[in-house]
Amino acid sequence: MTTGARLHGTPVVPGTGYGPALRAAPRPAIPPVASELPEPAREAERERFRAAVAAVAERLEQRAARATGQAAEVLATTATMAADPTLAAGVEKAIADGVPAVQAVASATAEFTAMFSAAGGLMAERVTDLEDIRDRVVAELLGHPEPGVPHPDEPSVLVADDLAPADAALLDPALVVALATRLGGPTSHTAIIARQLGIPCVVAVPDLGDVASGTPLLVDGGTGEVVVAPEEEEAETRVRAARELAREAAQWRGEGRTSDGHAVDILANVADGAAAREAAQGVAQGVGLFRTELCFLSAATEPSVEQQTAIYAEVLEAFPGRKVVVRTLDAGSDKPLVYAGLDEEANPALGVRGLRIAMDDPGILDRQLDAIAAAAGATSAEVWVMAPMVATVAEAAFFAERVRARGLTPGIMVEVPAAALLADALLAEVDFVSIGTNDLTQYTMAADRLSPSLASLSDPWQPAVLRLVGMTAEAGQRLGKPVGVCGEAAADPVLAAVLVGLGVTSLSAAAAALPAVGARLSRHTLEQCRQAATAVLATSDPVAARDAARAVLEVE
Ligand code: PEP
Ligand code: MG
Repeated sequence: MTTGARLHGTPVVPGTGYGPALRAAPRPAIPPVASELPEPAREAERERFRAAVAAVAERLEQRAARATGQAAEVLATTATMAADPTLAAGVEKAIADGVPAVQAVASATAEFTAMFSAAGGLMAERVTDLEDIRDRVVAELLGHPEPGVPHPDEPSVLVADDLAPADAALLDPALVVALATRLGGPTSHTAIIARQLGIPCVVAVPDLGDVASGTPLLVDGGTGEVVVAPEEEEAETRVRAARELAREAAQWRGEGRTSDGHAVDILANVADGAAAREAAQGVAQGVGLFRTELCFLSAATEPSVEQQTAIYAEVLEAFPGRKVVVRTLDAGSDKPLVYAGLDEEANPALGVRGLRIAMDDPGILDRQLDAIAAAAGATSAEVWVMAPMVATVAEAAFFAERVRARGLTPGIMVEVPAAALLADALLAEVDFVSIGTNDLTQYTMAADRLSPSLASLSDPWQPAVLRLVGMTAEAGQRLGKPVGVCGEAAADPVLAAVLVGLGVTSLSAAAAALPAVGARLSRHTLEQCRQAATAVLATSDPVAARDAARAVLEVE
């Protein structure tokens, strides 16, 4: 690849890293079956398989114990998947039929990955996890070293097709100064963990396969640019500037506001009490999105109102006197919830999900609202409640009535283009809206948000998405009602400034992303944010949109 070549991907974690490319070790090749295992050897082969799985699961568990936060959770989940009895049963059946363990692992995994891919959404995302487990078990059986990311001797840029969660979770930010992957979307495990670790990261870089190990790479997680063998001086200047920005961001404290004092609430996205308490120790002024369904993904039956009350109260208690926006269950599609009673559908993302489930049978919603009201009554947080996946005014009215009946403040998420187009009418029914840019992007661009092949479409900088955000924010201003953003877009500091320029009144993102967002806003006046928004709306693609915003805001 030519010196100075500039590749482009989807930026997911801002910051700039420079160093030699370090390639993740390739997956072990699976040799074809030479001959059927003789009957007497099958029992020993099964034991060999069991020992290999146990060794892999134990190593993953040990790493989970050393990791913290989401990384620990991801590793623990992978360890549990490795020890999954259904997968083991598939392998052992093949061994019993005379297939050697290595090939039995490969064929049983293939059956599961086909099933998961067909199910789509969150299930499809598990395919990378399963393939990672397969490779670890196969390497163990073959007596090869564990596949995955090598430990670099010098600060390096990690380059891979996509990272398995077990690899991503253990990256050392002192040695892996940036990450670039050929696949993976903004919501992939790689992206989530890179965000938690604060490692600059660009995903979906198409030409990355041609970059040889050792080639110096500059990765700009703010713009999505990957420069191959850049001029040393350019690289050093850009890394220095990024460090300076990061230092400023880390020092940022206080309430969100522009440099001329226009207030913008800086809120955290949380999934449970632990995350809420962690967010409360940082700069979050409250919670802008409590994803309640994530508390119950492994629940086989509906938790009682009392159990739910206790779970919600834990989050509310972390923010006494502060705003906490609780989202009612967003079950379906990428968030399957067993007790929601979802039917199999050909297109679950376009099916009965979110609030739609309650339109026919409001029981689960009513009991959840009872629990939220009870938790609100027992704590001092200012509780707002919003519904996911609202597309019609009738749905908004249905939800608002039930929330108000319990003395709570109703709102809806704007995740469907129809909701943005009808924002005036919807806002007439509720007290606030919050724009879920992840789904709004998915539905506007007709691009599955988890598809690694569609990352360039799954980009909230797509001007079509930003126009819908602008329309919604204008409706909020006309009616004097708050319009927040709680999708991943709010975690991108430059985009956050553009959103404020479009008229958005609060920003909610992962707690780790908030200081950089607050620091960025504090550098610009509201008028500059508006100018950036106007410039972005005049563009026709996401690369031009990013460039336009950075030019107006003078971001290096
Ligand atoms: C969104 O769609 O942007 C959103 C915040 O909801 P989730 O990511 O949970 O679907
Ligand atoms: Mg959503």
